[in-house]
Amino acid sequence: MSDFLELTEQYKAPLYVYDGDIIEQKFNLFKSAFDVKNLDIHYACKALTNLSILKLLKKLGARLDCVSVQEIQLGLKAGFEPSEIMFTPNGVGEEEYDRAISFGVSVNVDNIDMLEYLASKYPDIPLCIRINPHLLGGGNSKISVGTIDSKFGISIHQLPHVHRIVEQYNVRINGLHVHTGSDIHDGEIFIRAAELIFSAAESFEQLEYLDFGSGFKVPYKPNDYATDIKSFGEKFSVVFNKFCIKMGKDFHLKFEPGKFLVSEAGSFITKVNVIKQTTACTFVHLDSGFNHLIRPMFYNAYHHIENISNPDGSDKLYNIVGYICESDTFASNRMLPEVRKGDYLKFNNAGAYCFSMSSNYNSRYRPAEVLIYKNQAHLIRTRESLEDILQNQIMVEI
Ligand SMILES: *Cc1c(COP(=O)(O)O)cnc(C)c1O
Repeated sequence: MSDFLELTEQYKAPLYVYDGDIIEQKFNLFKSAFDVKNLDIHYACKALTNLSILKLLKKLGARLDCVSVQEIQLGLKAGFEPSEIMFTPNGVGEEEYDRAISFGVSVNVDNIDMLEYLASKYPDIPLCIRINPHLLGGGNSKISVGTIDSKFGISIHQLPHVHRIVEQYNVRINGLHVHTGSDIHDGEIFIRAAELIFSAAESFEQLEYLDFGSGFKVPYKPNDYATDIKSFGEKFSVVFNKFCIKMGKDFHLKFEPGKFLVSEAGSFITKVNVIKQTTACTFVHLDSGFNHLIRPMFYNAYHHIENISNPDGSDKLYNIVGYICESDTFASNRMLPEVRKGDYLKFNNAGAYCFSMSSNYNSRYRPAEVLIYKNQAHLIRTRESLEDILQNQIMVEI
């Protein structure tokens, strides 16, 4: 706890802090959960793209999943080989695919038009097909995977069309991909999706890998449920190995966890600017807003908050809000040990989709980032300055 206060003293708030030992622990937990011959863990780097985080994951043995050419370039800079990088974009143009291919990374195709373009232009380059399994589409509303993810992938019902293109251009399909985006609870639903993919896989003779994306749930609240990765890995390995035996081939099993690897490793520390007592409630205004952490406003996401300056204070109810000039509520009616002006509040689960979704709205600077690894703190991004805000702007003579 006091470690965070010390870091705040040194690097000032608002501050993102990542615990590299937790990332390492999550990576090893993920790896050891599966009992298959070839397991490739591609870190979905859109969750957190700091070069030092990428470098740490590379060191741990991860590969990379990138959704833009810029993420590919970051990955290459961090030391990943092109062969370790999978490009899994959605709805990008031909030019971006051309560039990805020029870097030598593996590409994942998510629409028929693009498949035809790539197959005709690069008949010698193997391709991976992203399949939308429409699992439970319109069915179970609790896990309406097909609906949530509907703009992603090539419909499983369009496979005959895919096969026509493959035959016409004689292109090699070496991978099938599915990323449902759902929260995996017991894994049963996921295994049913896998079975759909296995049956599709039987008709692609040159397949080398099957990529099951991500969707691993991490706990955000105390006592929140999380994917039991060990039990999921055990069950999944059994069905996967069975499929390999049936096909007489040792396929690579790929996953693309983002959140699972980095969410819990991150903390976001902010300072309390103002306490405002109204007739209805008490507002805590932080020296931050959705320019730094947008998940609560954008996804209605819950982030656990701790008062690290006054952990033993008596509990009170607060509305935790930001300084952005529009509504930016981090938490409503949140019970916290008494919050005073100048206290530091720490948001948990700030590793995934927090800094990477930050902006300069209200012309504010993005925070600094610190990585703690093996008891050493490293500044891995400096706080922005006015230079960053001014960069690229052109003031014309008017
Ligand atoms: C975002 C994304 C992931 C990672 O999802 P998490 O929920 O962070 O694990 C994996 N694969 C693809 C294709 C993605 O777009």
